[in-house]
Amino acid sequence: MGSGIGIGDLRYIPQLAHRSPNRILHSYSCPPILHRIRDHISSKNFRDQRSRRRSELEKLSVLDRIIRDAARFHGHMGPFLVLGVKAGLRAVETLGFNPFEMKAKIITKKSTPYTCFADGVQFTTGCTLGKGNIEIVDGVGLEAVFSLQNRSVELTVKEEILREAENSKEPLEKISLKFMRMSLMELFEEKLI
Ligand SMILES: [Zn+2]
Repeated sequence: MGSGIGIGDLRYIPQLAHRSPNRILHSYSCPPILHRIRDHISSKNFRDQRSRRRSELEKLSVLDRIIRDAARFHGHMGPFLVLGVKAGLRAVETLGFNPFEMKAKIITKKSTPYTCFADGVQFTTGCTLGKGNIEIVDGVGLEAVFSLQNRSVELTVKEEILREAENSKEPLEKISLKFMRMSLMELFEEKLI
Protein backbone atom coordinates (compact mmCIF):
# COMPACT_ATOMS: atom_id res chain seq x y z
CA MET A 1 0.00 0.00 0.00
CA GLY A 2 1.58 3.27 -1.07
CA SER A 3 1.59 5.88 1.70
CA GLY A 4 2.37 8.78 -0.57
CA ILE A 5 5.05 10.05 1.86
CA GLY A 6 8.59 10.37 0.50
CA ILE A 7 11.66 9.45 2.61
CA GLY A 8 12.61 13.12 2.81
CA ASP A 9 9.36 13.91 4.52
CA LEU A 10 10.12 11.68 7.49
CA ARG A 11 12.18 14.40 9.06
CA TYR A 12 9.03 16.40 9.58
CA ILE A 13 7.55 13.70 11.77
CA PRO A 14 8.77 14.39 15.32
CA GLN A 15 8.52 10.71 16.37
CA LEU A 16 11.00 9.82 13.64
CA ALA A 17 13.28 12.78 14.00
CA HIS A 18 15.66 10.96 16.35
CA ARG A 19 16.44 8.31 13.74
CA SER A 20 18.91 10.39 11.79
CA PRO A 21 19.72 13.38 14.01
CA ASN A 22 22.87 14.40 12.17
CA ARG A 23 21.21 14.53 8.80
CA ILE A 24 18.28 16.36 10.28
CA LEU A 25 20.42 18.83 12.23
CA HIS A 26 22.41 19.74 9.18
CA SER A 27 19.55 19.82 6.77
CA TYR A 28 18.41 23.27 5.71
CA SER A 29 14.87 22.02 5.94
CA CYS A 30 15.00 20.71 9.50
CA PRO A 31 12.34 21.97 11.91
CA PRO A 32 13.24 25.22 13.73
CA ILE A 33 13.20 23.50 17.14
CA LEU A 34 16.20 21.39 16.11
CA HIS A 35 18.07 24.48 15.00
CA ARG A 36 17.38 25.97 18.39
CA ILE A 37 18.67 22.83 20.15
CA ARG A 38 21.80 22.85 17.97
CA ASP A 39 22.39 26.53 18.66
CA HIS A 40 21.83 25.98 22.37
CA ILE A 41 24.27 23.04 22.54
CA SER A 42 26.98 25.01 20.79
CA SER A 43 26.34 28.22 22.77
CA LYS A 44 28.94 29.49 25.24
CA ASN A 45 26.33 29.58 27.97
CA PHE A 46 25.60 25.87 27.57
CA ARG A 47 29.30 24.98 27.47
CA ASP A 48 29.94 27.06 30.61
CA GLN A 49 27.04 25.39 32.41
CA ARG A 50 28.31 21.97 31.39
CA SER A 51 31.85 22.64 32.58
CA ARG A 52 30.51 24.10 35.85
CA ARG A 53 28.47 20.93 36.39
CA ARG A 54 31.54 18.81 35.59
CA SER A 55 33.79 20.64 38.01
CA GLU A 56 31.10 20.43 40.71
CA LEU A 57 30.98 16.68 40.17
CA GLU A 58 34.75 16.47 40.35
CA LYS A 59 34.75 18.47 43.57
CA LEU A 60 32.16 16.18 45.07
CA SER A 61 34.04 13.10 44.04
CA VAL A 62 37.20 14.37 45.76
CA LEU A 63 35.17 15.07 48.90
CA ASP A 64 33.52 11.66 48.57
CA ARG A 65 36.94 10.06 48.48
CA ILE A 66 38.19 11.98 51.53
CA ILE A 67 35.10 11.05 53.53
CA ARG A 68 35.31 7.41 52.43
CA ASP A 69 38.97 7.19 53.49
CA ALA A 70 38.28 9.01 56.76
CA ALA A 71 35.50 6.50 57.49
CA ARG A 72 37.95 3.66 56.79
CA PHE A 73 40.45 5.25 59.20
CA HIS A 74 37.81 5.80 61.87
CA GLY A 75 36.02 2.48 61.41
CA HIS A 76 32.60 3.71 60.37
CA MET A 77 30.81 6.65 58.78
CA GLY A 78 29.08 9.07 61.12
CA PRO A 79 27.97 12.70 61.32
CA PHE A 80 30.51 13.65 64.02
CA LEU A 81 33.34 12.25 61.91
CA VAL A 82 32.11 14.24 58.90
CA LEU A 83 31.93 17.43 60.98
CA GLY A 84 35.54 16.82 62.05
CA VAL A 85 36.60 16.25 58.44
CA LYS A 86 34.93 19.48 57.31
CA ALA A 87 36.43 21.45 60.22
CA GLY A 88 39.91 20.04 59.53
CA LEU A 89 39.69 20.86 55.84
CA ARG A 90 38.68 24.41 56.73
CA ALA A 91 41.66 24.70 59.11
CA VAL A 92 44.01 23.59 56.34
CA GLU A 93 42.36 25.99 53.92
CA THR A 94 42.75 28.99 56.22
CA LEU A 95 46.05 28.24 57.98
CA GLY A 96 47.87 25.95 55.56
CA PHE A 97 48.88 22.31 55.83
CA ASN A 98 51.52 21.74 58.44
CA PRO A 99 50.92 18.50 60.35
CA PHE A 100 53.89 19.13 62.64
CA GLU A 101 53.35 22.73 63.66
CA MET A 102 49.59 22.98 63.59
CA LYS A 103 47.84 22.45 66.91
CA ALA A 104 44.25 21.35 67.31
CA LYS A 105 42.18 21.69 70.45
CA ILE A 106 38.74 20.15 70.54
CA ILE A 107 36.32 21.18 73.23
CA THR A 108 33.44 18.76 73.74
CA LYS A 109 32.07 16.00 75.92
CA LYS A 110 34.82 13.39 76.34
CA SER A 111 32.80 10.46 75.05
CA THR A 112 31.63 9.03 71.75
CA PRO A 113 30.07 10.05 69.45
CA TYR A 114 31.45 13.57 70.24
CA THR A 115 35.05 12.40 70.16
CA CYS A 116 34.52 10.83 66.70
CA PHE A 117 34.99 14.45 65.55
CA ALA A 118 38.66 14.22 66.56
CA ASP A 119 39.32 11.43 64.07
CA GLY A 120 38.00 13.59 61.23
CA VAL A 121 40.37 16.33 62.38
CA GLN A 122 43.33 13.96 62.71
CA PHE A 123 42.70 12.53 59.27
CA THR A 124 42.52 15.87 57.46
CA THR A 125 45.01 18.05 59.36
CA GLY A 126 47.63 15.50 60.35
CA CYS A 127 47.39 16.77 63.96
CA THR A 128 47.58 13.41 65.70
CA LEU A 129 47.58 11.82 69.10
CA GLY A 130 50.94 10.25 68.25
CA LYS A 131 52.57 13.61 67.59
CA GLY A 132 50.82 15.17 70.56
CA ASN A 133 49.45 18.12 68.66
CA ILE A 134 45.78 17.38 69.21
CA GLU A 135 43.95 17.47 72.52
CA ILE A 136 40.38 17.01 73.62
CA VAL A 137 39.26 19.28 76.40
CA ASP A 138 36.08 18.47 78.31
CA GLY A 139 33.35 20.98 77.66
CA VAL A 140 29.87 21.59 76.32
CA GLY A 141 28.90 21.83 72.66
CA LEU A 142 31.40 21.00 69.94
CA GLU A 143 34.19 23.40 69.13
CA ALA A 144 37.64 23.18 67.54
CA VAL A 145 40.48 25.68 67.73
CA PHE A 146 43.32 25.31 65.24
CA SER A 147 46.54 27.28 65.57
CA LEU A 148 49.54 27.63 63.31
CA GLN A 149 52.32 30.14 63.96
CA ASN A 150 50.49 33.22 65.19
CA ARG A 151 47.15 32.58 63.55
CA SER A 152 44.12 30.66 64.76
CA VAL A 153 40.75 29.64 63.48
CA GLU A 154 37.92 28.73 65.79
CA LEU A 155 35.05 26.63 64.49
CA THR A 156 31.95 26.01 66.57
CA VAL A 157 29.36 23.55 65.34
CA LYS A 158 26.04 25.37 65.17
CA GLU A 159 23.53 24.48 67.86
CA GLU A 160 20.89 23.13 65.45
CA ILE A 161 23.48 21.01 63.60
CA LEU A 162 24.74 19.51 66.86
CA ARG A 163 21.14 18.73 67.92
CA GLU A 164 20.54 17.07 64.56
CA ALA A 165 23.74 15.00 64.84
CA GLU A 166 22.72 13.92 68.36
CA ASN A 167 19.05 13.19 67.80
CA SER A 168 18.52 12.32 64.16
CA LYS A 169 16.63 9.10 63.57
CA GLU A 170 18.02 8.97 60.03
CA PRO A 171 20.57 6.24 59.24
CA LEU A 172 24.10 7.45 60.05
CA GLU A 173 25.17 7.29 56.39
CA LYS A 174 22.31 9.52 55.31
CA ILE A 175 22.89 12.31 57.82
CA SER A 176 26.65 12.07 57.23
CA LEU A 177 26.14 12.54 53.52
CA LYS A 178 23.83 15.47 54.18
CA PHE A 179 26.42 17.22 56.39
CA MET A 180 29.13 16.51 53.86
CA ARG A 181 27.17 18.34 51.16
CA MET A 182 26.35 21.35 53.39
CA SER A 183 28.34 24.56 53.32
CA LEU A 184 30.69 25.62 56.11
CA MET A 185 28.42 28.56 56.84
CA GLU A 186 25.53 26.21 57.49
CA LEU A 187 27.56 23.97 59.78
CA PHE A 188 29.88 26.25 61.78
CA GLU A 189 30.31 29.61 63.39
CA GLU A 190 33.79 30.70 62.40
CA LYS A 191 36.22 33.10 64.00
CA LEU A 192 39.64 33.92 62.58
CA ILE A 193 42.06 35.17 65.19
ZN1 LIG B 1 32.29 7.40 65.21
